[in-house]
Amino acid sequence: MKAERQVATFIDEARIVEVLEAGKRYSPSAVRDVVSKSLELKGLDLEELAALLWVDDPELEHEIYNAARKIKEHIYGKRLVLFAPLYVCNYCVNNCRYCGYRAGNRFPRRRLTMEEISQEVKVILDMGHKRIALEAGEDPVHCPIDYIVDAMKQIYATTSGNACIRRINVNIAATTVDEYKMLKDAGIGTYVLFQETYHRDTYKRMHSGPKADYDWHATAMDRAFAAGIDDVGLGVLYGLCDWRFETVALLMHAQYLDKTYGVGPHTISFPRLRAACGISLDNFPHLVGDDEFKRIVASLRLAVPYTGMILSTREEPVSREEVIALGISQISAGSMVGVGEYSEGKAREDHSDTPQFEVGDHRSLDEIIRDLLPDGYIPSFCTACYRTGRTGESFMDLAKNAHIHEMCQPNALLTFQEYLCDYASPDTMERALPAIEKALMEIDNEALRNECVRRLERIRAGERDLYF
Ligand code: SF4
Ligand code: SF4
Repeated sequence: MKAERQVATFIDEARIVEVLEAGKRYSPSAVRDVVSKSLELKGLDLEELAALLWVDDPELEHEIYNAARKIKEHIYGKRLVLFAPLYVCNYCVNNCRYCGYRAGNRFPRRRLTMEEISQEVKVILDMGHKRIALEAGEDPVHCPIDYIVDAMKQIYATTSGNACIRRINVNIAATTVDEYKMLKDAGIGTYVLFQETYHRDTYKRMHSGPKADYDWHATAMDRAFAAGIDDVGLGVLYGLCDWRFETVALLMHAQYLDKTYGVGPHTISFPRLRAACGISLDNFPHLVGDDEFKRIVASLRLAVPYTGMILSTREEPVSREEVIALGISQISAGSMVGVGEYSEGKAREDHSDTPQFEVGDHRSLDEIIRDLLPDGYIPSFCTACYRTGRTGESFMDLAKNAHIHEMCQPNALLTFQEYLCDYASPDTMERALPAIEKALMEIDNEALRNECVRRLERIRAGERDLYF
């Protein structure tokens, strides 16, 4: 047990303040050097990241955005991995000041039965999704680890027609090594836990309940690694504290994991604070505007080029499209953020009782895909790496050598073709065909391209689940 309790000394606030001060002093030509260095795809140090966050010259800002777009295109092409969140339980013993699920909010709480989980999963599968982010509040009585493990088994066992969920990422409260081992054994994809804020005093003010223990929360990933989970996802809830501080702290945490475990975070998420049941944004002086948000995404794209970056449906469609181009590699789509909402078939306009936060993008998965296609994006439902054991360190080695790039494009096309055969509207289908042709031409390796064409044909003829 002793090894489990650690102090999160890797988040050094004094150092963050120092770094921010140093970054503020970068001249335009020093910032340009940082931008050029980022194009070598080796990442940036803390001070260099800080320098990007202070830029206020529109021309320099433009250069940062151009570099972010270039890096994104180089590593991820025009692919976007899609997933759906699944909220299974909204009981929570914590009282986080920013969350609609907090214990002080009085509303009927619910935990899905295994049968209800299956119903939810069938609706998600019938949209065309293959990846789920499993979400639950913290409540050892109503939502113990056994329930989460059973929920994962139920999700993997549920089918609809020939479809099943191929990857479950899990976002549950910080827990022990033993419990992380249980998640590992149940087939977890990425373990996701947002620090919310890295600033200790702010963290203290925002939390009460077990989650108020900053060190236990911040060292959760160390315990996850100790349990053998090598894919972890970090995140900050932007709007709680100064955005520059949080962004440098996020990189500090990522660098610590990389140095300590030989593998950085698999993903980084950027939720922005949203209004929710009983929560007024007026009480939060650090809200992040659209321009600042773009800067965060672009700067981190330069700083951690190989880390997946996730955007959720908290964002409005217009804002989503702008930041996607700056470096996002995964998005949630068609999301319902209330417990049981998928199978209750609530109209998307009727989101009056979604308790954790307000969704900003209410489009269906098919509408989102249809809107992405004219901009050249290829939606991907790929889970190949996870299923072939390319995770953790081996994933990062591949990713850093850019071999992953070779496999992502054909895999995106194969999974997108499955989507088109089984779920797409005629409108989406019409837009997709030229997009697929164009994406095929972007596969430089001729043998791989030809094999991809053959596999696309096999999928059109009825085969499923083909990947490289
Ligand atoms: Fe509970 Fe998580 Fe909401 Fe906090 S953020 S109240 S822990 S569900
Ligand atoms: Fe992700 Fe691997 Fe598929 Fe690429 S090939 S999209 S890295 S799962």
